[in-house]
Amino acid sequence: MIRHRVCITNQKGGVGKTTTAVNLGSFLARQNLAVLLVDNDPQSNATSSLGASAKDDAGDLYQVLTGRTDAVSACRPTMIPNLDLLPSNPNLAALEFELRHDADAELRLARELAGCQTRYNYIVIDNPPSLGLLAISGMVAADLLVVPVQCEYLALEGVAAILDSVRRVRQSLNPDLSLAGFLLTLFDARTRLSREVVEEMRRHFPEDTYETVIPRAVRLAEAPSHGLPAVLYDPVSSGTLAYQLWTAEFRARIERGANTANPPPAPVHP
Ligand code: ATP
Ligand code: MG
Repeated sequence: MIRHRVCITNQKGGVGKTTTAVNLGSFLARQNLAVLLVDNDPQSNATSSLGASAKDDAGDLYQVLTGRTDAVSACRPTMIPNLDLLPSNPNLAALEFELRHDADAELRLARELAGCQTRYNYIVIDNPPSLGLLAISGMVAADLLVVPVQCEYLALEGVAAILDSVRRVRQSLNPDLSLAGFLLTLFDARTRLSREVVEEMRRHFPEDTYETVIPRAVRLAEAPSHGLPAVLYDPVSSGTLAYQLWTAEFRARIERGANTANPPPAPVHP
């Protein structure tokens, strides 16, 4: 039985975390896997990308993390069969302040998700663009980390900061965390810079950079404004197909690791 908790993270904003989380969740669900997408960001972009909102009484991540409800009650089906959502709303921004005296604040998400892990093959966590409480909680709750890297100037500087925080989370809070790879996003074949970032990432992280590169594709940017995941908005656009290909590459990488008797943790490079 496959069971993983995948956190999509990068402290940099606008690099494609939410787009990656929604597409990964959609395509895993399409393959008959039971998937939960956790919107771990007060911006609630993953929630709105699936045409949902947390305004109703059914519960959201803020309520779960403050003990007002439990994760199982707050998870709801989406328009994609096999894909459930644990929605967010802007209240989540207050959590860091509200839990400032709570020594275990970073562990709450992991504890709550443990309560619904048996229902899902994959839990996909969409992290916010920060290295604060919410983002650290996402990494503590995960066993796999996917880092979208935008093909633009200074991409590698951000990667060094992420590797540093992964190392700290592994040492202090979650030794089970491993890096499940860098996904190059928003690639524009017309610019030399995009091509240079791909080359540099492949040179520095040959084992950990996915072959599949996600192109800058207007249909991927349009889908959320229609409240539709790309797989329903335009299943055959270049961006959607790239995410489909990447999901297959991701699964091959993860499930190959799971097949070895005692898989070594993926190296976290210096
Ligand atoms: P934040 O850090 O604010 O949470 P993010 O890292 O989650 O941002 P997204 O919301 O996925 O990034 O993407 C940022 C913007 O770029 C969105 O408007 C999204 O629709 C668009 N976008 C993401 N990926 C692509 C792509 N491959 N092609 C075109 N547009 C994209
Ligand atoms: Mg986002």
